[in-house]
Amino acid sequence: MRIENHRIPGIWFGQSANLGARRQNPPVIIVLHYTTGWNGAASRDWLMGAAAGAANRGSSAHVVIDRDGTAWQIAPFNRTAWHAGPSRYGTLEGLNAFSVGIEFVNPGWLKPNGLGDFTDAYGKRFSERALKKAGGYQMAPQPRVGSGSFAWPLYPEAQIATGVDLVQALVGFYPIKAIVSHEEIDTRGWKTDPGPAFPMERFRALLGEADDREPAAVVTAGRLNLRGGPGAVFEKVVPPGTLLKGTRLKIMQRQGDWAFVAPESPDGREGAVTGWVHAAYIAPVMEA
Ligand SMILES: [Zn+2]
Repeated sequence: MRIENHRIPGIWFGQSANLGARRQNPPVIIVLHYTTGWNGAASRDWLMGAAAGAANRGSSAHVVIDRDGTAWQIAPFNRTAWHAGPSRYGTLEGLNAFSVGIEFVNPGWLKPNGLGDFTDAYGKRFSERALKKAGGYQMAPQPRVGSGSFAWPLYPEAQIATGVDLVQALVGFYPIKAIVSHEEIDTRGWKTDPGPAFPMERFRALLGEADDREPAAVVTAGRLNLRGGPGAVFEKVVPPGTLLKGTRLKIMQRQGDWAFVAPESPDGREGAVTGWVHAAYIAPVMEA
């Protein structure tokens, strides 16, 4: 796929009525979703709102990808679509304005009823046989839905292949710095898409490994220890010993939960000091 005039030539295009303003800056994040349904055309029409005769006035996306790999573009990439809701990634909030939203047709979690059947988010029942026929599923817990394990229908390879093509084209054309799930950016803690059956790592890998796109980070804890190795058992690097909230860092390497960083000095220069910090207390600086 290639991108021309913020569209993918050769795939179906119809413009959703549920879009924000034309944006000045290119998108920097790709947000991946599932539709919470099996019917791709119905989801596409819903997300197009009045443009497809649907009552929906509140949500949209840029592209919907059906289970057979068919892609429908419903917003040009230079318009804001409404898919992320209240959201945060690194230092950016309200990700609709900075992102491309891709919806994969998939029903999401189904609850086992203990008798061999499963119930989806709408209360519709499916037999195990029906789920297998529809492409299979995997069981996994999701505390956001409830206790126990849920059935997550798999994503067919044709659908994933189209998604990979699309994301590759987007990464090649726009200064994309992150590929994220809706679940990880949702600040209300409700969202579960695209879920454990989605090959998220395959998509994140499209940003490239030896990539210089890993953004600078910023310290989010009040005081963060800078250590000589990747673990709390390592001595602090003194000076400075601790880094203050808001200190910008360059990330040079990651190991497990730890990051090897070079903090910037207050005058904005990268300091000569390097050390390890716990990565839970730093966040990427996202400039859009
Ligand atoms: Zn979503």
